[in-house]
Amino acid sequence: MDILKYANNVVAFFTNPIWKYLFYGIIFMLIVIWLSFVYWTFRDAKLRNAPALFWAVIVFIFNYIGIILYLILRPPEYIDDVVERELEIKKTELLLDGVSLKCPACGKEIKEDFLICPYCRKKLKNSCINCGRPLNLDWKICPYCKTPQ
Ligand SMILES: [Zn+2]
Ligand SMILES: [Zn+2]
Repeated sequence: MDILKYANNVVAFFTNPIWKYLFYGIIFMLIVIWLSFVYWTFRDAKLRNAPALFWAVIVFIFNYIGIILYLILRPPEYIDDVVERELEIKKTELLLDGVSLKCPACGKEIKEDFLICPYCRKKLKNSCINCGRPLNLDWKICPYCKTPQ
């Protein structure tokens, strides 16, 4: 009799409707995780300038395998990092070149210490009355020799 009672209990345990809800809950969770994988891939691919929609579809179809494929094949760095690095390189190149200044009148390239534009003769700087160094037109005193202009 005890065994029968026990068996009944076991059957009651497994036919409890809570299992059904648990099952639906798990399915729901899996779908949520699945979709967040797709979303994450889409966003990450966009940040890395990879074909985002293509990878989102791949992950949607193949899920885990798609994610692993994406992690292997995705570009190694964010597009922002690439842009930043290129800017950094450009800046360094400019420093190495000497910053290229342009004449405010004709736009041709001039040097920092030019007193006059050699192309259009625009006056660019004054020379210090004492030491002769090039001074900006609006400077009232020479920063090199302290002579008022
Ligand atoms: Zn000029
Ligand atoms: Zn001076």
